[in-house]
Amino acid sequence: MSASHHPHQHDQDACRRYLSSLSEYADGTLSDELCQELEAHMATCENCRIVVNTFNKTVSLYHQIPAPEMPSAVKERLYKVLHLEAYSPAKPGQ
Ligand SMILES: [Zn+2]
Repeated sequence: MSASHHPHQHDQDACRRYLSSLSEYADGTLSDELCQELEAHMATCENCRIVVNTFNKTVSLYHQIPAPEMPSAVKERLYKVLHLEAYSPAKPGQ
């Protein structure tokens, strides 16, 4: 393991903490302050972006199976923050 080359504190503990809040974020039970923190972190953290991107791909692959609920409005908001709009699944009725 090499030492972090990032000047600020940005370790995987933080990532894990934010990623574990994703379901609360999706449920809308996360406080506004934490939502903003999570969005800010996701916007700058490639690690978390990859996780969410992978999650999205997985959901897309298995879209016939009921996936863990993430309301589309929340997903869109998150994708916008993460600049992942290209990965958003096509909306039905379009
Ligand atoms: Zn992260």
